[in-house]
Amino acid sequence: MLEIHYMPLNQMLLGISIKDLFCIRLRIGHTRLTHSCLLSGHHQPECVSCHCPLIVKHFLLDCTDFNDVRKKSFAASSMKDLFENVNLCDITDFVKTHFYKLL
Ligand SMILES: [Zn+2]
Repeated sequence: MLEIHYMPLNQMLLGISIKDLFCIRLRIGHTRLTHSCLLSGHHQPECVSCHCPLIVKHFLLDCTDFNDVRKKSFAASSMKDLFENVNLCDITDFVKTHFYKLL
């Protein structure tokens, strides 16, 4: 008979640093800022400047409000390009500086 062993979430995450977890959230596009509306029943948050849906891709690549500061941190044409070719520290520094408390 096959036995199934469940592992508590905190044990599964034991080997993952907060920084890694933070990066995973950015890669999959699921953050408290962008997805808390699903649990709270509120509307999808919008970018205050652009009035478009506030998704991870928007604040990492598209938002014109952050063009200047983004260019100082990194340049990428897509999320794939960003996470494959940009130093992860540059991405996390940009996010920590501008969005960390919201994520
Ligand atoms: Zn925007």
